[in-house]
Amino acid sequence: MAQEDVFKKLVSHCKEYGFVFPSSEIYDGLGAVYDYGQYGVELKNNIKKYWWDSMTLLHENVVGIDSAIFMHPTIWKASGHVDAFNDPLIDNKDSKKRYRADVLIEDHLAKIEEKINKEVAKAAKKFGDAFDEAKFRQTNPRVLEHQAKWDEIHERYKKDMNDSNFEDLRQLILDCEIVCPISGTRNWTDVRQFNLMFSTEMGSTTDGAMKVYLRPETAQGIFVNFLNVQKTGRMKIPFGIAQIGKAFRNEIVARQFIFRMREFEQMEMQFFVRPGEEIEWFKKWKETRLKWHKALGLGDEKYRFHDHEKLAHYANAATDIEFEMPFGFKEVEGIHSRTDFDLSQHEKYSGKKIQYFDPELNKSYTPYVIETSIGVDRMFLSVMAGSYAEETLANGETRVVLRLPAALAPIKLAVLPLVKKDGLPEKAEEIVRALRLDFRCQYDEKDSIGKRYRRQDAIGTPYCITVDHDTLQDNQVTIRFRDTMEQERVPVDRLRDIIAEKVSMRSLLKKVIE
Ligand code: ATP
Repeated sequence: MAQEDVFKKLVSHCKEYGFVFPSSEIYDGLGAVYDYGQYGVELKNNIKKYWWDSMTLLHENVVGIDSAIFMHPTIWKASGHVDAFNDPLIDNKDSKKRYRADVLIEDHLAKIEEKINKEVAKAAKKFGDAFDEAKFRQTNPRVLEHQAKWDEIHERYKKDMNDSNFEDLRQLILDCEIVCPISGTRNWTDVRQFNLMFSTEMGSTTDGAMKVYLRPETAQGIFVNFLNVQKTGRMKIPFGIAQIGKAFRNEIVARQFIFRMREFEQMEMQFFVRPGEEIEWFKKWKETRLKWHKALGLGDEKYRFHDHEKLAHYANAATDIEFEMPFGFKEVEGIHSRTDFDLSQHEKYSGKKIQYFDPELNKSYTPYVIETSIGVDRMFLSVMAGSYAEETLANGETRVVLRLPAALAPIKLAVLPLVKKDGLPEKAEEIVRALRLDFRCQYDEKDSIGKRYRRQDAIGTPYCITVDHDTLQDNQVTIRFRDTMEQERVPVDRLRDIIAEKVSMRSLLKKVIE
């Protein structure tokens, strides 16, 4: 199946099974804003718990906070967001569609890369074991030609972005002959800067309202609380502060479902270190975070690092963890070495001293910061995309199954009486009552067993427990495993242990520290 079709199916699956709904749907929706449904919210909460626990339980020097969405507007001046949180946008005059100029060029570069990779794959197939990829890349004329083109465009793009040279950025789009995917033309407007922050007013206008922003990231709430946490928690460097919360960006091109939203949620951790030790910590956090992703078991090959070419004004190293979505490898998490930029800026703008006295070095300094920043919604999308499968079974039937990591699944087990009579529903309900304090259970008695299994497969429930007439005699049930569809007869008393082993957050967290 083409990847675009997979994505379309995933989006409709999310809606049909109560994971994600378009916001304000009965009013025809609101661009790039989404609501999470009854299963979506459970999956999302489990993702957040996985992150929160892995930060604050597994690292004794990482603590959490929950700062307000509204903050003093000067914070966004200090952070650079008022002046520099812009995207370069460009419109196609024929389709009237708006694009991010940088994304158009990056997509173009990705296409060239794809051509190179195709050449390499073709040659690898032709030459088999004798294939020397490095040599091929250095010598094959077609690859060299593509690579030279890529280098040239990339160099110019990097320079234009660094110098904010939007005239040349537009020219580059023209020179690369990039067309609008809708109209197919090269009839482009000038490139303009567009600030992504939403603003509103605080206080009534009569006594002078103040313009405030909806935070575009949660990180600043951590920086401005650095001293509060450090002092009240008697924290010693190195230490981290973690936060989960909503962020808002007026994205120009809001596409690809929950990948790019205008209201979304972030999980950010700022790790404060001694100046000079930041690169070492940057490397450590890169590894730690990749391990966290891989522990989910969605497939190691689905992740890769993408080091930044153009560093943000505050960073001295930065990388993204990308996940292979149905529309290609895309950023899910950013890891940035932010130097002492943020704390220094807040010191300057607030006039308050924000420094740390290091008892071991016997001196004060402004700590350096490593940030790990991941979008809950993008993580959600990667988990859904990595779990969604359509299978043809041995008997020719097909099933849609969400192979969700068991600890993240919204419902852990479904208890199903074989028939709606003979005391089986009562027995099934008794089992639910016994297990509901440990796991989120669902009771279902409607339709055939086969149909009920399919419904649970479609929402990713790892276990189905069937109660039949024999259960009333021997107190045993049939447990069916979602992924293998294998069934086993087990005593009711053992259910808790069997299920807990796989679905507990504990079992997942153990993989992170293995
Ligand atoms: P992009 O380049 O895709 O716009 P970014 O580099 O601006 O992302 P960061 O500012 O580093 O993103 O934000 C950290 C994380 O927050 C991202 O890795 C992503 O998971 C998430 N995120 C950022 N913008 C959005 C958005 N509009 N919708 C959903 N998640 C987002």
